[in-house]
Amino acid sequence: MENASEGESRVVPVERKRASSGQVYWNDEIQVTAYGLLIEATLDGVDELDYGIVYLYETDERHRIEFSSDRRQAVHDVREEIHQLEPDTPPSPVTNRNKCSGCSVRHYCQPETETHLNNSNGWLTSVVDGGDRE
Ligand code: SF4
Repeated sequence: MENASEGESRVVPVERKRASSGQVYWNDEIQVTAYGLLIEATLDGVDELDYGIVYLYETDERHRIEFSSDRRQAVHDVREEIHQLEPDTPPSPVTNRNKCSGCSVRHYCQPETETHLNNSNGWLTSVVDGGDRE
């Protein structure tokens, strides 16, 4: 909640990012927009929200992110992509592995394991598929 004026308040979702670069990326914008859509869908008494905030705590900057139609559509597109995922076809890991060090799901994703398996020249695949280990 953010104070709108004396005696009033309004809901404004806030996403905190380290972002020492001082940059706000499209993914950040879509993330805070997704929070807004979730709030609209679930919080009683809240109609359409206008904006959210991406707060960069390393630089103490607040960036206002309007919940525009293109951002709202991007959230729906991502949701649709997620619905299309199957257990046998997980999304590819990020190509920039520097992002993994600060990732909140690193424990589940285990990017080092994926890298190790990729570097093992298909050994695991051959074992799973019934091939011989040599
Ligand atoms: S740990 Fe996994 S989910 Fe997180 S950034 Fe790396 S590849 Fe992506």
